[in-house]
Amino acid sequence: MADSGQVAARARAIADEVLFPAALGVDGADRVPAAQFDLFAAEGYYGMAAPADAGGLGLSWPQAAALVETLADGCLTTAFVWLQHHSPVRAVADSAQPGLRDRWLTPLARGERRAGIALAGLRVPDAPMRVTPVDGGYLLEGRAPWVTGWGMIDTLYTAALDASGDVHFLLVDAAPAPTLRTRPLELVAVRASATVDVHFDRHFVPADRLVDRVPYTDWSRSDSSGSAMNGFLAIGVAARCVRLLPPGPAAETLSAQLDAARAGLLGADSASTPAARADASALAARAAAALAVQTGARAVLLDHDAQRLAREAVFLLVFGNRPAIRDDLLDRLTRT
Ligand SMILES: Cc1cc2nc3c(=O)[nH]c(=O)nc-3n(C[C@H](O)[C@H](O)[C@H](O)COP(=O)(O)OP(=O)(O)OC[C@H]3O[C@@H](n4cnc5c(N)ncnc54)[C@H](O)[C@@H]3O)c2cc1C
Repeated sequence: MADSGQVAARARAIADEVLFPAALGVDGADRVPAAQFDLFAAEGYYGMAAPADAGGLGLSWPQAAALVETLADGCLTTAFVWLQHHSPVRAVADSAQPGLRDRWLTPLARGERRAGIALAGLRVPDAPMRVTPVDGGYLLEGRAPWVTGWGMIDTLYTAALDASGDVHFLLVDAAPAPTLRTRPLELVAVRASATVDVHFDRHFVPADRLVDRVPYTDWSRSDSSGSAMNGFLAIGVAARCVRLLPPGPAAETLSAQLDAARAGLLGADSASTPAARADASALAARAAAALAVQTGARAVLLDHDAQRLAREAVFLLVFGNRPAIRDDLLDRLTRT
């Protein structure tokens, strides 16, 4: 198990000395440089969510949240792509499918295998991702929108619905095939996340890639509050904006709001997660706007971090939302 104090100190150094100086360059690139993910693997960050006996870092929830915040404060795009990896790790660690944990968990925890997620296909109204059992495996059919990390991941944790209303979670090879096509999405922020739509056309997945199968209603209930961990991306962006502000009333006020938003996310249960997520996203937007105002006209120059952070804050107003987060956020943004 890693020393959590050392992990935090090292992450701070990586954020300030490696990620932040490169963040504007990454912002304009087609993908995140592989060296940044290789560094994360060497530091054990791909094992953030893995049990310690499988090579995980053994961090508590607040320590893991602090790691996400620090890396996002260094470079949101890099942290965003890497963050997708951890739901598959947790699902594989908890899987009851024979042999799956033994085959997959350690390579995932070490970052020898790198995963993304395709869950939004379940939320495509009227045409959710479908799965059909066949001899030796499953066929996937449909569109999974918003898949982050294409070209930087080798495994796609994919959710699809069967005819009886159960959701299947499958580990799919993240590689083009005659039955698997991608369409790149042009984004105004985190462009180098290489986010794509994935189209499956009766795409075969072997039976031993099944991680879990749950009733749709159970999945939908657990999904509806959104992820508290995703909120630490917004906390990281807000923290960087506060750090770039000169000492003064604006920095002090935002810093106090940052402490409160962080505490709100750390203490959130499923009922209070939407409000805590909305609070973090609204704070990132205010902090980025304050940084732009403080910076002045130079904030709109493409080589200034203020405009990058402002675009990232807009992305964080919509990423990973659920109806409850969106409603709360709209309420906060329109209150006088
Ligand atoms: C740049 C970017 C990258 C992303 N990367 C990924 C990724 O890698 N993997 C991934 O899976 N997603 C990814 N997402 C999708 C992200 O999770 C979405 O932001 C989220 O799905 C909300 O989208 P929305 O605002 O369109 O949803 P909403 O408008 O909130 O909802 C869309 C539809 O889904 C329905 N819905 C919402 N929640 C539920 C639920 N629990 N059960 C049933 N129906 C529901 C709503 O009623 C609505 O019809 C990404 C998004 C962005 C912007």
